[in-house]
Amino acid sequence: MYICPTCHRRFQEEQKLTKHFLSCWKEQHPFHQSKSAPKGKDIETRKVNKDIINFFNSFKE
Ligand SMILES: [Zn+2]
Repeated sequence: MYICPTCHRRFQEEQKLTKHFLSCWKEQHPFHQSKSAPKGKDIETRKVNKDIINFFNSFKE
C-alpha cells in the first residue's frame, strides 16, 4: 500500500502512485513552475525537491 503524501490517496502499486504523485504535487505547488520567483522562493523549492527525492528513495529500501 502506497499513500500520496500530498492528498493521502492510496494506491496498490508504486508505479501508479509515482505517476499520480508527480501531477498531484504540481497541482499543489504551482509556484514550482514559476521561473520569476524571488530567491527566498527558490530556496523553498529546492527544499521541497529534496523532500521528494527522499520520499521516492524510501520505496527502494
Ligand atoms: Zn495525491
